[in-house]
Amino acid sequence: MADYELLMIPGPTNLPEEVREALGRPQISHRVGRFKTLVGEVTKGLQSLFMTSQPVLTLTASSTGAMEAAIVNLLSPGDPVICVDTGKFGDRLGQIAAIYGARVHTLRVERGQAVSEAELGEACAMIRPKAVLMVQNETSTGVCQDVAALAEICRTYNALSVVDAVSALGGIPLRMDAWGLDAVIAGSQKALMLPPGLGFVAFSERAWEAARTSTMPKFYFDLTKARSSLEKGGETPYTPNTSLFVALQVVLDMIAEEGLEQRWEQHHRLALGCRAAMEALGLTLFAAPEVRSDTITSVVSPVDSQELTRVVREQHNIIIAGGQDELRGKIFRIGHMGICELGHLVMTVAAVADALDELGYACDSAAAVWAAESAY
Ligand code: PLP
Repeated sequence: MADYELLMIPGPTNLPEEVREALGRPQISHRVGRFKTLVGEVTKGLQSLFMTSQPVLTLTASSTGAMEAAIVNLLSPGDPVICVDTGKFGDRLGQIAAIYGARVHTLRVERGQAVSEAELGEACAMIRPKAVLMVQNETSTGVCQDVAALAEICRTYNALSVVDAVSALGGIPLRMDAWGLDAVIAGSQKALMLPPGLGFVAFSERAWEAARTSTMPKFYFDLTKARSSLEKGGETPYTPNTSLFVALQVVLDMIAEEGLEQRWEQHHRLALGCRAAMEALGLTLFAAPEVRSDTITSVVSPVDSQELTRVVREQHNIIIAGGQDELRGKIFRIGHMGICELGHLVMTVAAVADALDELGYACDSAAAVWAAESAY
């Protein structure tokens, strides 16, 4: 078995050479000048990425930790919240809030669709929530929601918009301040081209105001403490994953050099290529046309998708994702984020076509590759 696999999943993603080099550098202390300077610099870089003037807090935790941190710092037990359940990750936001005692009203959205503004408005009018929990890019279904429009509805009802941008940030447009988002959550292992292990959270002024009165229990994830450590001069309250911070600085420089808009454009072109290839294989895309993600393509599988992912992995050393929860076996998902290039997509398209053929679904690999290249 080769020790290198091409990761075409929605995270973790393949790492740029520069990141692998940075991860191998000698360990540094987290309480002396050099690291403090680095924290200041990565925070500035993250502010450009989030498009916010607010501090972006970097937590040593996976993205779920960042989701939990956002929720426990904004809310108090008994607060009414709406959870926009678009799939596995929308549902997870609701689960976290419920465990800490929020009164969670679930707005279940048909899989493959985004919530409509009318539906959210109606729910807000009825429930008058303190916060609306939602996912920008629902990784489990490949749906990208218009969180700018949804946040506007939240504001109308004086509710905080809490947005999981974990599989969007760096690959799909996100403008925290201009769109009036109150809490934005992200993680390291998706379009940011880093290993898993860092979570990011930023709050608007309104959200920091809410944090002052939040009584949900918190210790490690106390963001007021994290903010004051940061403002004291580039510190974190507890020992951070210093190697990941070093690598984060490297990717932030890479993104700044290439340009964030160019990164978005690259992801969009890959998505166009992937969608065209899947359709050329005669397959149906799972997400509704107007809400398709630029970082992940979800496809209705004509064979058991667990089998398909196995064959692609065993015979081509390429990892694609199956469906999760109720979509297990039914859809497959191709991640095209981070350092993904057309060549990686073409190899994946050919491998998927080959595996489908082996599993009894005859299709034209060459036509799919041609479609990917033409649409890119
Ligand atoms: N939110 C979204 C949209 C995700 O795609 C994921 C991971 O795939 C998470 C949250 C959770 O991230 P983690 O597994 O890093 O905790």
